[in-house]
Amino acid sequence: MDKKVLNKMLRPKSVAVVGASATPGKIGYSVISNLLKDGYKGKIYPINPKESEILGVKCYAELKDVPGEIDSAVMCVPAKAMVEMTEECGKKGVKGLIVITSGFSEIGRKDLEDEIVNIAKRYGMRILGPNIVGSLSNSDKFNGSFCPSLPLPGKASLVSQSGALLIALAMATWTRKVGFDKLISIGNMADVDFADLIEWFNDDEDTSCVSLYIEGLKNGRRFIDAAKNSKKPIIALKSGVSAHGAAAAASHTGSLAGAAKVYGSAFKQACVIQASDLDNLFDRTLGLSSQPPMKGDNLLVLTNGGGVGVLATDAAERYGIPLKFAPEDVQAEMKKHMPEFGSAKNPVDMTGMAGNEWYYETVKYAISNKWTDGLVILYCETSITNPHEIAESIKRAIDDSGVKNKPVTVSFVGGDRSNEAIAWLNEHGIPAFFAPDVAVNVIAALREYAILQEQKNNIHVKPNEKAMKKSMEIIEAARKDGRTALTEIEAKAIFEAYGMPTTKIALAKTEEEAIAAAKKIGYPIVMKIVSPDILHKSDAGGVKVNIKDEAAAREAFNTIMKNAKAYKADANIHGIAVQEMAPWGTEVILGSINDPTFGPTLMFGLGGIFVEVLKDVTFRVSPVSSVEAMDMINEIKGAKILAGARGEAPRDRKALANAIVNYSSMILDLKDEIAESDANPFLVYAEGEGLKVADARIILKKK
Ligand code: ADP
Ligand code: MG
Repeated sequence: MDKKVLNKMLRPKSVAVVGASATPGKIGYSVISNLLKDGYKGKIYPINPKESEILGVKCYAELKDVPGEIDSAVMCVPAKAMVEMTEECGKKGVKGLIVITSGFSEIGRKDLEDEIVNIAKRYGMRILGPNIVGSLSNSDKFNGSFCPSLPLPGKASLVSQSGALLIALAMATWTRKVGFDKLISIGNMADVDFADLIEWFNDDEDTSCVSLYIEGLKNGRRFIDAAKNSKKPIIALKSGVSAHGAAAAASHTGSLAGAAKVYGSAFKQACVIQASDLDNLFDRTLGLSSQPPMKGDNLLVLTNGGGVGVLATDAAERYGIPLKFAPEDVQAEMKKHMPEFGSAKNPVDMTGMAGNEWYYETVKYAISNKWTDGLVILYCETSITNPHEIAESIKRAIDDSGVKNKPVTVSFVGGDRSNEAIAWLNEHGIPAFFAPDVAVNVIAALREYAILQEQKNNIHVKPNEKAMKKSMEIIEAARKDGRTALTEIEAKAIFEAYGMPTTKIALAKTEEEAIAAAKKIGYPIVMKIVSPDILHKSDAGGVKVNIKDEAAAREAFNTIMKNAKAYKADANIHGIAVQEMAPWGTEVILGSINDPTFGPTLMFGLGGIFVEVLKDVTFRVSPVSSVEAMDMINEIKGAKILAGARGEAPRDRKALANAIVNYSSMILDLKDEIAESDANPFLVYAEGEGLKVADARIILKKK
């Protein structure tokens, strides 16, 4: 039902231009002129009480005067007229409003925006924008915008949160030879958002890949769901990676969670391929819109020049698909079309002697043999070859091979003739670029897409009722106390309820209670201050480790109390936590924030100096599957330390992955309660020996 409404909005059979104008230079004029100029075949109804016709098209004073049905209305009236006009559209039975008009939430008039959305809802209409350039569709010859022309036709579609950028990109499609079918300006996203369009594109047979320019998402979780279920590859360029209010964070995790990192992880979970800049967005769009995913790791590089071959080899390693030598039989076959001094290993170097024939034969074999999963073809302009002929040979070889399920990218390094060949290849559906680096980067995106699709799992975690009940008792008691900071003892009890092993712990209010607790737990012990007013206990001299006997325990008790009072005279001191001294292990940190866009989000990294100085951490939006948990463990820079570096035994990564999954359920179950949390340090032992939370922190949301 809703998709049909979007269909009518974005691929209308009839369109009204509300606020149409006969004055060149006005937006209401541009839209009419663009619809006509770009060959729109549907009905056009300009609406303006002062005109009888615009550019030869009959003009109507009011929407209700229009004789036929109206699918889509492009709104160009001033913001103050929008409420009335939206109502008029509703009464007329318009399906979708493309609201070019600005002057809404972008200047603080969210109220006005809400008003038009509410009216639209009442009539079952959808709103694109406001504050947009409009919407364009090549396959409908529909330029419902003030963008000067439709883009170069192609199979990708673009949704952009920036209007100006959309226009610029539309123009660039012609020079860069990257074609698009639909360009949709999304603006303030008062109603239709990225997720709606991703879902709509699933059934749009003219779109094979969706590119997004994102400044910020409104509902991160809905975006993840829609993108994850997309039948088509999605590429996103995200800008604006600073403001996140991270500075005010009370926990370590909060201060480490920049928007860039969280978005990056969320994109991964959503199977979205990222672009690093505008160039990269174009390049990767070209690849993903024309080539199949790369199903395995065997990348073969063909070249006529050693230098570009080495550059491609470096790039392959950089982009995560390092080259491997091709098997003997594959090498033997490729040896047939190169001189004695050529190399058939990988890169396959046919040498500067390679002409059309060798390119044809080698490309055909290289893509057909079983071993190859993807092919990068490089060419350096030479005096004995004609770039255009080489390009034709490549195209013919691919066509004749009949292979359609393996991606190919090309790099031609040379002058004008090579550039012309690049354009020719692109026009013929083979993504070609100047730099070898780019050809490899694009095929790496096709590999990444295949991997993300394989790993994709829609996990539905059930709440852990028992753990939730226990946690809520602790949380409610703290709230009654007027606190948002849980003590270590309270936080550890919640972690423990969620299946994360913590140190044995007891609260001692007096020296005698401490001695009794120590006896029960067994020496050596650790003693720490317990006060909701002292979050960083070491800073206050509130931690004593490796206490070996009763005399030391008595002394520690008194020193900690004294230090705490000296640190903060009016601190509310609950007592001292007497706890088991955990054997030393590899320190990691697990933490969480409640991200404004994505909700409960988990952080993992190596602890101690690694987190303090190197910020070697990674994020995932909760819930996290066990596969994703392993991914987190393997993707930090310090992964080798956990794998067992320098002859050390590997750490218990299975138990760690399990803890990550449990932590993720904890923050999801308690998302309305927990603002931030961390387990720091979380000590990980050798394989099979598990792990233990040595310090725990939970900060509650203010209510
Ligand atoms: P802070 O509030 O300063 O973060 P912690 O509880 O993390 O205090 O204690 C500081 C350090 O003491 C930890 O980083 C860890 O090295 C050590 N430590 C704390 N608790 C234990 C424990 N139960 N067993 C072993 N070492 C511990
Ligand atoms: Mg700590």
